[in-house]
Amino acid sequence: MDAAQMGADLEKVLLTEEQIQTRLQELAEQIWENYQDKNVLLVGVLKGAVMVMSDLMRALPGSAEMDWMAVSSYGSGTKSSGVVRILKDLDTDITDRHVLIVEDIIDSGLTLSWIRTNLRSRKPASVEICTLLRKPEAAKVEIDVRYVGFDIPNDFVVGYGLDYAEAYRNLRVVGTLAPHVYS
Ligand code: 5GP
Ligand code: MG
Ligand code: MG
Repeated sequence: MDAAQMGADLEKVLLTEEQIQTRLQELAEQIWENYQDKNVLLVGVLKGAVMVMSDLMRALPGSAEMDWMAVSSYGSGTKSSGVVRILKDLDTDITDRHVLIVEDIIDSGLTLSWIRTNLRSRKPASVEICTLLRKPEAAKVEIDVRYVGFDIPNDFVVGYGLDYAEAYRNLRVVGTLAPHVYS
């Protein structure tokens, strides 16, 4: 699939490249204010958070460490069940560390809620969450999220790390897919 086709498959662009980058810059400045003396560890959740992590990290006005987890949630189809299995764990010992989880999107919140509980059991100094996107209408659990890029409607979105059947992750915008893509 070429770039023109990826673009044509979008029904609507929700967030442009410029909107995303401007917001990440604002979040990076807030994050730096709160963590500049704390040697923060940014923890990304593969694969969706790859783009957010790389742009957010470069927008920080100072040094930070990064690590990655990969998880899979048990459950049927596209719906998250909240039962999670770790496919790749952190390389870093987070005992007494300040951890900031970096996510692409919070939908039901079940996956992230599980991850945060799991990380907290390792006795870090703190665990906070930064997500580019959040769907308030889809929330099944209350999660206290310190840094939110954008609240969006309860529609399936792709781009900027988010996939449909592993495609569209490398789009620079976030958008919804046209109906012809699903059929
Ligand atoms: P949750 O556990 O919050 O329901 O969802 C966790 C994961 O589901 C997200 O990290 C993401 O991988 C996937 N997801 C949720 N909503 C969307 C969406 O609108 N588009 C895409 N591409 N993935 C989504
Ligand atoms: Mg994710
Ligand atoms: Mg996916």
